[in-house]
Amino acid sequence: MKSISFVTIKKKSIIAGLLCLVSVISVFLAAVLIKPVSSPKPEFSVCIDAGHGGRDGGAEGKVTGVSESQLNLEFARTLRDMCKSFGFGVTMTRSDMEGLYSPTASNKKRSEMEKRESIINKSGADAVISIHMNSFALSSAQGAYVFYGSGNDKGFALAKSIQTSLCRDFDTARKTVSVGDYYVLNCTKKAGVLIECGFLSNAEEEKLLMDKEYQKKMCYSILVGLVDYFQMSR
Ligand SMILES: [Zn+2]
Repeated sequence: MKSISFVTIKKKSIIAGLLCLVSVISVFLAAVLIKPVSSPKPEFSVCIDAGHGGRDGGAEGKVTGVSESQLNLEFARTLRDMCKSFGFGVTMTRSDMEGLYSPTASNKKRSEMEKRESIINKSGADAVISIHMNSFALSSAQGAYVFYGSGNDKGFALAKSIQTSLCRDFDTARKTVSVGDYYVLNCTKKAGVLIECGFLSNAEEEKLLMDKEYQKKMCYSILVGLVDYFQMSR
């Protein structure tokens, strides 16, 4: 039996110690130097604006009294989820029923609009879609309308693209796009549209606008129009 000298044992333990130290340093360096992999920046992004909110409920359903601000939010959330699953970046101007105005502001409407403008223009989004529900004295009025800001060519192209998609999917959708004098469209140079998804003053359409499947169908149609616009603007 070969005897192991004290010196050999000492050498082995020094080597083992050094190896252990090297592995500790490696783990430490890996933790410091290797950054977590972040998801790539989306090629396109959209700012989705749910109209009204807080004490400003907007229009009301003729039969159920449902508030426009609630339906705007439901449509906006559905559209947000679809845009995200399509790989688009999404900014929401509001994600709950709270108003965008400062609680202490004396002019709540102005405060709300300024906040909306700030979120839209700081979002870095390529397109802005503002969601509303319509109301009119004539109860037979129906269908989705798409508006763009005066002189905004990108807004016009986006409006045309979304309106074309809506006309393909909904017989009631208006056939032409219109200039709309709305703050959310006038406050930005981005491709912006305001969509009046339907009329809450029309009992039949009110029922449809509250239906989750109808909401999904319309949001998908809006998404298709948005995708077509992004492809054209590439
Ligand atoms: Zn509205």
